Amino acid sequence: MATLQEPVTMPKPAKPLPEPNSDFYELAETLPAEELAVVKQVRTFMETKVAPIITKYWIEDAFPFELVPAIKGLNIGGVAMKGYGCRGGSALMFGLIALEMARVDVSIATFFGVHNGLAMGSIYLGGSEEQKQKWLPPMARWEKIGCFGLTEPLVGSGASGGLTTTAKREGDTWIINGQKRWIGNSPWCDISIIWAHDVADNQVKGFIVENKTTPGFSVEKMQNKAGLKVVQNGEITLQNCRVPEENRLQEVKSFRDTARVLKMTRYMVGWEATGCAMGAYENALKYTQERFQFGKRIGSFQLVQDLLAKMLANITASQCLVVRMAQLHADGKLTDAHAALAKAFTTAKCRETVAWARELVGGNGIIADYNVARFFNDAEALYSYEGTYQMQNLIVGKAITGLSAFV
Ligand SMILES: Cc1cc2nc3c(=O)[nH]c(=O)nc-3n(C[C@H](O)[C@H](O)[C@H](O)COP(=O)(O)OP(=O)(O)OC[C@H]3O[C@@H](n4cnc5c(N)ncnc54)[C@H](O)[C@@H]3O)c2cc1C
Repeated sequence: MATLQEPVTMPKPAKPLPEPNSDFYELAETLPAEELAVVKQVRTFMETKVAPIITKYWIEDAFPFELVPAIKGLNIGGVAMKGYGCRGGSALMFGLIALEMARVDVSIATFFGVHNGLAMGSIYLGGSEEQKQKWLPPMARWEKIGCFGLTEPLVGSGASGGLTTTAKREGDTWIINGQKRWIGNSPWCDISIIWAHDVADNQVKGFIVENKTTPGFSVEKMQNKAGLKVVQNGEITLQNCRVPEENRLQEVKSFRDTARVLKMTRYMVGWEATGCAMGAYENALKYTQERFQFGKRIGSFQLVQDLLAKMLANITASQCLVVRMAQLHADGKLTDAHAALAKAFTTAKCRETVAWARELVGGNGIIADYNVARFFNDAEALYSYEGTYQMQNLIVGKAITGLSAFV
């Protein structure tokens, strides 16, 4: 990052200024030892390996494959999943990893979330015993990387009842036709979880499709994104792809089962949004401690402190909310509406927080080198992916009124 040279004539502070700390209510103190150890491990990885290089990759729209061996070394593949070579651990641990990653870079958190949450999660929740034994161990070792193909060019929010991708059974083979859009990791990964409607019963079914060896499967990388640029999103075309029945997720009967996966990944986005806001806040706060205007550090101005306090309040509220959500999960009580409320609230607060961070860094706030612009742009993706703000609120609205507003 460019340095903010302190003018030689400016007074030094009477005592050293505090290091930015976005854990104001000391939630880390409450973590069990195993979770705390993982937080420290992931934080060190993100600060020492990812932070120094990620802005360059973000600017270049490229994925840092050089980091994959170190990600493997973290031993977090299959976190919160039991057996099948997975890391195991709690949903709290899963959330904390996502938060710590997003605190430095939302794209890396998303890469982790798509592979571990959406792709492995689909097999873990929707696969048969044989399917789990076959696919989860190499995925937990990051030898096979996955993606999750639900959204289509013409169908986003309405995916539950409107998928146009079709699956037609012919003996022990399924013929899949259609298009998927926005699919993270798909331009280079190994396995796609493809959601399609079965033309026979009109229900949504899930399929494990091998990207590199299935004739008729092609992917085009999406270009010119203005956010989450490190994640490689693709537009997938499936043209008469023949997928064996043994690759149909055997426990998936309808979109309700897809929603079980989305509940866990929306849970995770709540953590990611909290981490994203923390990263932007910490970088902006440091800037206000170092930047001089009118002969003073801008952090000493009342209106600047007002914004910082509001940012910290957003972050602290989000942290408390996602930690409580983890408790609900541990008690077996987490509902779709709980996850939806957290996804909507934390992403909205994140969006507000990163915008204030951008504001505090002035013009430099739109230069990627100052480590705030990346969070600012990436927050937009969090707000919309895994179901938009409006879709989450409709899920909550249905739960609290007993009335569905979905059309
Ligand atoms: C960076 C990024 C990564 C993504 N990664 C993946 C991925 O890996 N896999 C995947 O399957 N998808 C992925 N997505 C897709 C994402 O889930 C969709 O973008 C999202 O669900 C919204 O769909 P849409 O973009 O088609 O918007 P639309 O559904 O067209 O919505 C446009 C606007 O209309 C509003 N709207 C729509 N219907 C209603 C209604 N009934 N009431 C009120 N408002 C409504 C929406 O809230 C939104 O504001 C990704 C998206 C992004 C941006």
